[in-house]
Amino acid sequence: MADPKNSESLPVRMEEVVSLCARRGFIFPSSEIYGGINGFWDYGPLGVELKNNLKALWWQRMVRERDDVEGIDSSIIAHPRIWEASGHVEHFSDPMVDCRACKKRFRADQLDDVGACPSREGTSEHDFTDARNFNLMLKTFIGASEDVASTAFLRPETCQSIFADFKRVREAARQQVPFGIAQIGKAFRNEINPRNFTFRSREFEQAELEFFAPPEDREKWFESLLALRLQFHKDLGFPDERLRVRPHADDELAHYANAAADIEFLFPFGWQEIEGIHDRGDWDLRRHTEFAGKDLGVTNDETKERYLPVVIETSVGVDRTCLAILVNGFEEEALENGETRSVLRLHPRVAPIKAAILPLSKKLAEGARKIDQDLRRHWNVFYDASGNIGRRYRRQDEIGTPLCVTYDFDSETDGKVTVRERDSMNQERISCDALVAYLRERLEPEA
Ligand code: ATP
Repeated sequence: MADPKNSESLPVRMEEVVSLCARRGFIFPSSEIYGGINGFWDYGPLGVELKNNLKALWWQRMVRERDDVEGIDSSIIAHPRIWEASGHVEHFSDPMVDCRACKKRFRADQLDDVGACPSREGTSEHDFTDARNFNLMLKTFIGASEDVASTAFLRPETCQSIFADFKRVREAARQQVPFGIAQIGKAFRNEINPRNFTFRSREFEQAELEFFAPPEDREKWFESLLALRLQFHKDLGFPDERLRVRPHADDELAHYANAAADIEFLFPFGWQEIEGIHDRGDWDLRRHTEFAGKDLGVTNDETKERYLPVVIETSVGVDRTCLAILVNGFEEEALENGETRSVLRLHPRVAPIKAAILPLSKKLAEGARKIDQDLRRHWNVFYDASGNIGRRYRRQDEIGTPLCVTYDFDSETDGKVTVRERDSMNQERISCDALVAYLRERLEPEA
């Protein structure tokens, strides 16, 4: 974070983050040249790096560092019976109302900020219909005919395939309960009002862990996975005052859930969920056992009785977390000399570009390129030879590059470069031979 003694951070507005994202190629509307398509977003060259880094970190922590979790990558379209078993065909809906005048559709539980009706005379109030339920699953057709029998759904959550694959994965990986199955993938929801940039989209990515435990241990696993996930967000650099856990009240719980808590982040548009931790009981395995007619139970080693494990789920939105990272890192910093700099204080693990190599003159290209080639074998780095050095630093600050490596005329003779750190703007002279180790220490900190 900025040194409070010589700098001051100004409040972040959503528009500034959205504008930076488009201008620098993090995230922008899908099909932009056609005017965009509501609820769909494209990640550009910097955005895809940020997102991939976040997913890799999640995978590292949740799958690779644990011997009790297996990863999978299932198909987006699954057997339609899966969505009957899961309850989505029957229950996955939001109450919605239509305005009879302007014909717009809104979520009945989110009518506080719908704005004025543009179509009524003498009043700006909408003329709402009664609320009706609207299923959020996106449909498609498989094969040549378009009828009920060929209807399939784009998955609205990634976890159902984990339940359907539970037996296969447990046996193939020779796992025993308690253990978990994890996956990262696209999910689709026909949200009535996509809004707040990528926060509520119609196509998004989830990173989910379904942890299977004996029923008597459910509370223990719920608490420990909640703590683990909260720590993950803290490790990304979210400060305590921007993170909170909100346990669900009994009347808020999904029909199958025994306990649930949201991890919420303070966005410029208020406290909002970025991750849900749910005790789903044995609902999913019981339903798939019933609908598929396959026994998904396991045997208790001691009593030899068959039972269905309960599931503790951690489900985080990759896009929402990326947005939280961008919002949290974005700062218009007022400097001591009266200037303002835009800086994105990203954790080095997720920063799209880890270091920029900046030759002070075009004449120094050969030596600087050698360093660039060497660092490219380790990280995503960027070579920039154009513009004055101050402007080049600012361009990197704005996209969150943690370190800039400046190659100057002295470098040619003393074999050293200047490394400038984004947040403190401190500079240090480092020998080229020690550069990789120096960068590694800063780019890959232990925590
Ligand atoms: P919300 O109440 O905000 O619609 P939810 O409770 O329906 O979210 P879950 O079904 O628990 O969300 O999904 C798990 C995670 O998936 C959420 O915490 C969120 O990060 C992400 N997610 C869900 N819906 C969307 C969406 N429309 N756009 C982006 N991310 C989403």
